[in-house]
Amino acid sequence: MVDFYKQLVEQRRELHQWPEEGWTEFWTTAYITEHLREWGYEVLLGLKVIDKENVFGRNQELVDAAIEAAKNRGVSQALLDEMQGYTGAVAVLDTGKEGPVTAFRFDIDCVCVQETDDASHKPNQEGFRSVHDGYMHACGHDCHASIGLTLARWLMENKDSLKGKFKIVFQPAEEGVRGASAIAASGVLDDADYLFGSHISFMADTGEVVVAPYGLLCTTKYDVTFRGAPAHAGKEPNAGRNALAAACNAVVQMMGIARHGGGMTRINVGTLRAGEGRNVIPCTAHMALEVRGETSEINDYMAQQVKNIIEGIAKSFGVTYEISTMGAAVDFLNDAELNDIISDVAKTVPTVNKIVADGNFGGSEDYSIMGRRVQTHGGKAAFFICGADRTAGHHQGKFDIDETGLTTAFDMYKGIVEKTNK
Ligand SMILES: [Zn+2]
Repeated sequence: MVDFYKQLVEQRRELHQWPEEGWTEFWTTAYITEHLREWGYEVLLGLKVIDKENVFGRNQELVDAAIEAAKNRGVSQALLDEMQGYTGAVAVLDTGKEGPVTAFRFDIDCVCVQETDDASHKPNQEGFRSVHDGYMHACGHDCHASIGLTLARWLMENKDSLKGKFKIVFQPAEEGVRGASAIAASGVLDDADYLFGSHISFMADTGEVVVAPYGLLCTTKYDVTFRGAPAHAGKEPNAGRNALAAACNAVVQMMGIARHGGGMTRINVGTLRAGEGRNVIPCTAHMALEVRGETSEINDYMAQQVKNIIEGIAKSFGVTYEISTMGAAVDFLNDAELNDIISDVAKTVPTVNKIVADGNFGGSEDYSIMGRRVQTHGGKAAFFICGADRTAGHHQGKFDIDETGLTTAFDMYKGIVEKTNK
């Protein structure tokens, strides 16, 4: 008999040691794929599950370096070839019996954070700290990947008593909300009757389950480049086209976008880099910005205003511009029917002692993109929180979680399968 609870912790700790940031999870994808195949899974990789047009915020230099690093860690060339330069995997289990298509989503990327050297930090004490300097699973996605793997193995072990199809998505690049769009657009989830996803810890302690977190914000992230023309600042500034001035004016106008009466909006220009030298009319400017909105409509309004401003500014300053979408998430609400399932299951899970109906998530999560996709194709989707105590806030070097949360999550997913697969 497989000890699923032991596997949960062991694999989480193995994954914790080699964290990889978004779109560079080659070793992680190989680790996941090899285990799944060993258990008898069909695993879809590369462009089978990634739509290139909807890949946001992927840096080819980082990708190339990560492929090299994965090779050095023993990943075979054949497997890397199969990935076609794109991380992430979808495991498919067809029971051969008529029934629902049930899908699950687990994210697998890390955060660019240095793990603490503090001797009291459990990964240091128990020898599973990150050996990838500057990178750390500081958001618990090591846990998510391990929960997904354990669930996959449990499904396979129990396939004779199950029906329909199961799809387990191991999603790259959740941080910066970059990865979900590519998987959703590939269509791999379009036949799903159900999609479930969760986050560990975050807004809930050990023993708690939050059934329907709200406030998953819509957001769009843009990189914008203005290009002008350089010129001698003393001799003939009139010959130049000032990209820095264009960008500064764009920022000021963006801050003045009229607020939307329909709900909350946010805008932030987080970086602005421009110019070449003191006596040169600056010919390039780069900015990284994001907008958010309470609903898709409001977010789209903000995004459209930003685009209008950039276009108008470019015209008035005689510069050209490029806008690249670097990430996106939509707002999302669980299907009510699934909320009932989640809370009914939570009542049966031994490690759960508090069931919270809802709570403000207050961030963006690109699960929303996949959830929406499933909902618009006639399926039902839900996202919940499995509580776990943490030693520090998410995205910090001292972050670690109470591994009881792994058990809670695994038991929740098992229970969900038992309820939806009757
Ligand atoms: Zn996270």
